Amino acid sequence: MAEKTYDAIVIGAGPGGMTAALYLSRSNSSVLMIDRGVYGGQMNNTAEIENYPGFDSILGPDLAEKMYQSSTQFGAEYAFGTVTKIEDHGTTKTVVTDMDTYETKSVIIATGAQYKKLGVAGEEEFGGRGVSYCAVCDGAFFRNKHVIVVGGGDSAVEEGTYLAGLAEKVTILHRRDKLRAQQILQNRAFANEKISFKWFTEVQEILGDDKKVTGVRVIDNQTQEVSEIDADGVFIYVGINPISAPFLDLGITNEEGWIETNDSMATKVPGIYALGDVREKELRQVTTAVGDGAIAGQSAYGYLQSLG
Ligand code: FAD
Repeated sequence: MAEKTYDAIVIGAGPGGMTAALYLSRSNSSVLMIDRGVYGGQMNNTAEIENYPGFDSILGPDLAEKMYQSSTQFGAEYAFGTVTKIEDHGTTKTVVTDMDTYETKSVIIATGAQYKKLGVAGEEEFGGRGVSYCAVCDGAFFRNKHVIVVGGGDSAVEEGTYLAGLAEKVTILHRRDKLRAQQILQNRAFANEKISFKWFTEVQEILGDDKKVTGVRVIDNQTQEVSEIDADGVFIYVGINPISAPFLDLGITNEEGWIETNDSMATKVPGIYALGDVREKELRQVTTAVGDGAIAGQSAYGYLQSLG
């Protein structure tokens, strides 16, 4: 059992969690951020962020570093560990990780979200051998090669455009004949001569040899015609899931697993807050996670004051 009881534990050190830690520690609360990896969250998988005010453009990992410096300047602590459970004892809570157990008066859940799998043959087998969910992490392996991008939303089109800066050719496969991505992203992709689109196209299988991906087998969902496309890599952007499994038994999630909060970022359990991508919300971005973080930090501070 930990000797110290924190005022607040923030689970997840992405942009939202780091902002909550900043607000709480600046108001003199003792704060511990716990993350299972490197601080920065999904920003570490993002090349250029062009929609964070104050920067024309900044690399995701650079923004992560700047936020970490801000978030720890008033004494917020940082610990590694994967949180597996929160036990609610009313005015105190226990946060259990795979490495340690911590006591706290309040908890802020900021665990974010992660990309969905396509669920086709070859996807698992060729993971890290041509199948990727992160253009920034893996794009450089595909210089002057042909890559497939699967999906039609913001991530597919944005990352497809990023990949076109490295690859010889990018083919975006979409199961409909219209993209869901923001118009400005669509315009950039349509204007890029390295990018082509195949509409009404669904991946049936990711193909490969004994070493790596060699292509995809696809079906035209209008004509049912099956064909193969040669490619060196497949980047999959087909949706996103909340990372909320450790918190399901608190009864604070909806049926899809997103955590429900009010405008103060409070869940229905007193002293437990949630913010950022893991929350049921419309727009999942760095700016909105940061905004949520400020509100959650301030709300938790108010809760701590009420405890006396
Ligand atoms: P996250 O950034 O997801 O951080 C969550 C943290 O929680 C992670 O560090 C994770 O390790 C940790 N965690 C999870 N589970 C546990 C656990 N059980 N125990 C301990 N720690 C845990 N947004 C923009 O505004 N502009 C962009 O241009 C942009 N481009 C993007 C491009 C890509 C490829 C991706 C993936 C995302 C992009 N986003 C962009 C979205 C943006 O990064 C997210 O909306 C934002 O990072 C969400 O912040 P968050 O704090 O809610 O969570």
